[in-house]
Amino acid sequence: AAARTLSSAGTEVRVEGIVKNFSGGGPAALEGVSLVIAPGELLALLGPSGSGKTTLLRVIAGLEIPDAGRVFFGAQDTTDVPVQRRGVGFVFQHYALFRHLTVFENIAYGLRSRERRRRPPEAEIRRRVGHLLDLVQLPTLASRYPGQLSGGQRQRVALARALAVEPSVLLLDEPFGALDAQVRKDLRRWLREIHRETGQTTIFVTHDQDEALELADRIAILNRGRIEQVGAPHEVQDDPASRFVMSFVGETARLAAEVMGGRVVVDGRPTLRAEPGWPEGPVDLCLRPWHLSVRQDPAALYGTVREWRRTARGTVAEIQLDGADSAVEVTVTEVYRKGDRVALLASEARVFPRG
Ligand code: ATP
Repeated sequence: AAARTLSSAGTEVRVEGIVKNFSGGGPAALEGVSLVIAPGELLALLGPSGSGKTTLLRVIAGLEIPDAGRVFFGAQDTTDVPVQRRGVGFVFQHYALFRHLTVFENIAYGLRSRERRRRPPEAEIRRRVGHLLDLVQLPTLASRYPGQLSGGQRQRVALARALAVEPSVLLLDEPFGALDAQVRKDLRRWLREIHRETGQTTIFVTHDQDEALELADRIAILNRGRIEQVGAPHEVQDDPASRFVMSFVGETARLAAEVMGGRVVVDGRPTLRAEPGWPEGPVDLCLRPWHLSVRQDPAALYGTVREWRRTARGTVAEIQLDGADSAVEVTVTEVYRKGDRVALLASEARVFPRG
């Protein structure tokens, strides 16, 4: 019977061709964004600062009216539905709990402030809030005030408050942004569990790739108001659709190269074999550190050891590949010295037209 406290079925959210321009001229915050979020899905909006993540979340919430495009919740076009009537719950980075209300009253707030017709009876409110306090693992803190809680506890209360009204869609804007690393880690695991229990369609904004990779069913990667790719964590990491995605998600070394006669030429030397479909001519060769190994081979890439260190998992060398924009950390089996020259092979590589 306790299961009724939380809605179990999520709602599909669909945005179509969303444009939002704050300034009138210049590039828009959203330049035509389309995205379908499946019922019950946990989707991350990931991108650098200013890429449009918060704006997209606010458009879905109804806090921002798009200049063009539509928003659907299930079959309903909600583009013009006011925020209070969309059935969304929010948590923002700077959790605005009511300071003069206890934890219990904060969580109950959304239910109590409903018009009388839709307000549950007092006993039902108590039951629901009790269940939520258990869910966010704060059953003993019901009578505390926000000022008596840690940052992580406040964040959990904010989430419980958002869940209390049984939103069909839960929207989280950098929910753990202001917290220290260990607390963030604990809260991530816990959000995953809550999501499993409630099954609400959840969209969260983050600029932290680890957070997105660890938590999300799928990740939508935004860049300058456009979606560059939407996919499961392994898809965006192993099969990036653009150079931007490749360099934004997961470490990458990028080298200026040229595809010529079936080979990738670096520094005038033919190295890797080009894969079918790779464009001839100048390219950026992009490599993942975990695909690199130190190996003597005529087709190798070359680099210089900058540092090396022993770790619990073996020895790691920081290697600056000749012509690369950044150094990469590669697991090695031999001992090197700073300045040693090494040859490396890449088991996988990507090329993108030079840009
Ligand atoms: P961050 O990670 O820094 O929060 P973001 O990806 O969430 O960034 P948005 O906050 O959506 O990015 O901003 C996208 C663009 O729209 C930015 O150029 C921003 O300056 C602009 N913008 C956002 N809100 C407004 C506003 N209310 N008025 C004017 N410009 C705005």
